[in-house]
Amino acid sequence: MSDNLQNNVDPYLHRVKVLYVEDEDVIRDSIARFLKRRIKDLLLASNGKEGLEIYKQEKPDIVITDIMMPFMSGIEMSIAIKAIDDDVPIIVTSAFNDEDYFLKSIEIGVVKYIKKPVNNSDLLTILLKVARMVSQQKEIEAKNEFIKTILDNNPTFIMITDIDEIYFLNSSFLHFLGYETFDEFLEKGKNINRFIVVKEDSFYKGKSFNVWIKEAMSGDRADYIVHMAGKNQLKSEASSYIIHANTIPEMQARKRYLITFTDISHIECDRKMFQNLATKDGLTNIYNRKKFEDELDKEIERSLRYNNFLSLIIFDIDHFKSVNDTYGHQTGDYVLKEITSLVSENVRKYDMFARYGGEEFVILTPETNLAGAKELAEKLRERIQDYEFKEVGRVTCSFGVSEYVKQEDPAGFIKKADYALYIAKNKGRNRVKAIEKEHSFFFNLPY
Ligand code: GH3
Ligand code: MG
Ligand code: MG
Repeated sequence: MSDNLQNNVDPYLHRVKVLYVEDEDVIRDSIARFLKRRIKDLLLASNGKEGLEIYKQEKPDIVITDIMMPFMSGIEMSIAIKAIDDDVPIIVTSAFNDEDYFLKSIEIGVVKYIKKPVNNSDLLTILLKVARMVSQQKEIEAKNEFIKTILDNNPTFIMITDIDEIYFLNSSFLHFLGYETFDEFLEKGKNINRFIVVKEDSFYKGKSFNVWIKEAMSGDRADYIVHMAGKNQLKSEASSYIIHANTIPEMQARKRYLITFTDISHIECDRKMFQNLATKDGLTNIYNRKKFEDELDKEIERSLRYNNFLSLIIFDIDHFKSVNDTYGHQTGDYVLKEITSLVSENVRKYDMFARYGGEEFVILTPETNLAGAKELAEKLRERIQDYEFKEVGRVTCSFGVSEYVKQEDPAGFIKKADYALYIAKNKGRNRVKAIEKEHSFFFNLPY
């Protein structure tokens, strides 16, 4: 042993707390004197019983113990200590050359066995090795604690999984799900699917957690989004979370993944707002012409695929120019909005109501034939005619109705309704006119 090592305080030794148990005063005093110069925190006990008591109170990092002692032997004490903390390293000093003691020591997990009389320098070498091990372990634990703190305080939901099992959820995730600890999550069934809100187009619809999480991790789409409602949330209050997965480098052999769920509800909200701006009319807040034309193509396809009826109503406010001229543009706007509400209240959920132009509106009615659409138009005509508009009094509308026929292009379908409206205006307004199916060909002639 070099003088250097014996005389300088080793940084590792300086960090650990050591309990030394020895019943023979002379030996204990001599070794204690030697150790005290090198160890910052040295605790002494004169038998196993006392040693165990001190262990419980002080929780030393390393235990050095004799075997044969009154009240409680070193072996008995070691067993009791290991029962409290299986990781604590124990160094045994013994005068016995007895194989039984030696084997027993190994069995209880004693890390080192030193023959008595103890050579100070041998003891120091061993102690140094063990202290290094303990320090490194402590460092790892501190690092883990540090990482855990970072993960736990991250508002993003974080999960560690190997797909089959979940190994970690950070605190924000646990609290969202209504659990205090990860153990509680495990005890109560470790079920994530319970918090997931399924929508018609959810990629995880009808799939178990293991299946959809795997898909989200290996899939090539960039937008795997799950909707989740936490413990204290209604399904309607669910937020949208985008999933990101990373393989954890040190755990690659065990294929663990770090999966994050980032709340993107605010972005979704903006997206919806922009979508609204692009599809809705600013004054009446019903769909605009662009959206109507998009939907018209889709509805035509649907009606062809399922062989369903599809009809269209176009209506226009009668003498609207004079409303503006008499009462002003603002009152005109009010009439437009009021008519929009009247109509909205009287159409079905699947009907598509849109503002087609200034004071011209369209209603696309799926699964409705010409007779049905005429009936609806007539009902709307009456509702508007009977309504008392503030300041203005009575306002009427004229209606044109058509039914889609196979092979017709969308423009032809609209032209028919528009022509029916033209007839309604010409016949004196405030009425419903329709183009019968058998006259459709006329509107679909090439120019
Ligand atoms: P008809 O019975 O033949 O339909 O007569 P009309 O006066 O309703 O038809 P015309 O096309 O001559 O006039 C439509 C008027 O609608 C002209 C336009 O200023 C008005 N208008 C269009 N969009 C709006 C709007 O957003 N707000 C208001 N207040 N008026 C509008
Ligand atoms: Mg008009
Ligand atoms: Mg007009």
